[in-house]
Formats: sequence, C-alpha cells, structure tokens
Amino acid sequence: MEYAYDPKVGKNLTVDEYKTQHGPKLDARGNVRWRPKLRCLVCNVPLHTVGEDNPTVVPTWGHDPSPGTFCPIKSGGSERYEILPPTEADPTKGAQLRASFFANWEAHWGYIGSVVLYPDIFTFIGFIRSADKKGLWTQRHLEEWHLPYVCLATCDFPPPKGTIAARRPHWLRFRFNDRYRTLRDLWIEADQEFSFLQLTYRKPLRKKEPGPAEFIAADHVRVDRHWLDATYPPPNTFAIAAMESAFRA
Ligand SMILES: [Zn+2]
Repeated sequence: MEYAYDPKVGKNLTVDEYKTQHGPKLDARGNVRWRPKLRCLVCNVPLHTVGEDNPTVVPTWGHDPSPGTFCPIKSGGSERYEILPPTEADPTKGAQLRASFFANWEAHWGYIGSVVLYPDIFTFIGFIRSADKKGLWTQRHLEEWHLPYVCLATCDFPPPKGTIAARRPHWLRFRFNDRYRTLRDLWIEADQEFSFLQLTYRKPLRKKEPGPAEFIAADHVRVDRHWLDATYPPPNTFAIAAMESAFRA
C-alpha cells in the first residue's frame, strides 16, 4: 500500500513522507534509529517499509507477519459485508423502520453523497432491494441512523462514468473496524461505538474489480449518530425519477 496512517501527524503518509517526518532508517552514527511504528488502520497489524532505500522502486508499506490475523486489504477487500436474514426479527419494528426510511430517503441519499462524491442512485436502489429481499429492516438493534453505513459497507463504489469521471477517479469501499467482521457483529455490539473506514483503490485497468495491487490508502470516516438532523442538498431529478420508478406503489 502507498499510504499508512500516522496518528501523531494525524494523516496518511507515503514512505517518503514518513522519512521526512521521522528520519531515515539509520542515524548520523549509522545506528538504527527509533521511529514510531505505524499500524494498518483496518487490521491494526504493525507495518514496515518496503524498498525504502531502493532508488529504482516506489517504496510502499507492507504488513509485518501476523499469522492468524485477517486483513481485508491483503485479501483484496473482496470479502464484502453481506446482508443476511435477520438473527432476531421484529416485524412490527421492521415495517416502521422501512416506512421511516422511505419518508427520509432523500436525507439518507444526501448523507451517502456527503461521504462518497457522485454515488450512483442504482447502487442505493440495489441496496434497498437487497434489504427488502433479506428482511434487513426487521433486524433487532438496527436503527435508522445505521442504514447509510450498512449501505456503504455492503456496496461497491466504482468511479462515476461520463463527464464527471475525473471528479472522483478512485474506487471506494467502506468497512467497519476490525471488531466487525460481519454485519452480525453490529447487531450484537449495538451499544458500542463503531469506527468506519474508507478504502481507496486505483481503478483497475485490465480487470473488473480492484484488488490488493490497486489499494492506495485507508482513511477514517467520522461516524455521526445524528446525521439525520442535518440538511442535505436535494437529490437531482434523475435520482428522484429512478427512485419513483423503482418503488412505485
Ligand atoms: Zn491490515
């Protein structure tokens, strides 16, 4: 990966930026310098530099060996969260949640648009259809404010097509922190605070989806329980028409 998060600096650093910040591997006497160990934001395993002193390669970050630790970055992020049938279903609550979601869909869509530039309305429609099919709404401990995070974590966000393509050249994926291996963990740990990450990939040239070779960086996304209280720019007429035609009563 190209970037690793440095909590002291509060941002992602390339290996070269890390060197500028913390100095080269050896000090003036040729002794190994102490430098802070950065960790993978997703799996929390310590990282090391690869090719730091090799002028012929672009240096990158690699995971230290850590048998038994699962990291979705190393495996290409293809293990997406899946919407599964509820573990504990509450149909009455499910009907209320779905009705409230549809009453507020413009805000849900607006909030998603504040996290991902130029999301595709058909991603959102596909998410709602999966939620209907699997009965997601009836899941106990699922709250309305969780829904955009569930949508972001279960869907894929390729760069937009057409004239706006250059405005978001990267492919985005989202996930909960490593405590949340499946969505089930979200229901079980409903009272816990969760943290949320954005994974940025280069658009792959010769294959359908990006993998570890395209991974650039992970960034924290601020989790906001009260996002429904904010106001968002209204959806465009295309999005409104697509939603109306998909869910016409
Ligand atoms: Zn990792």
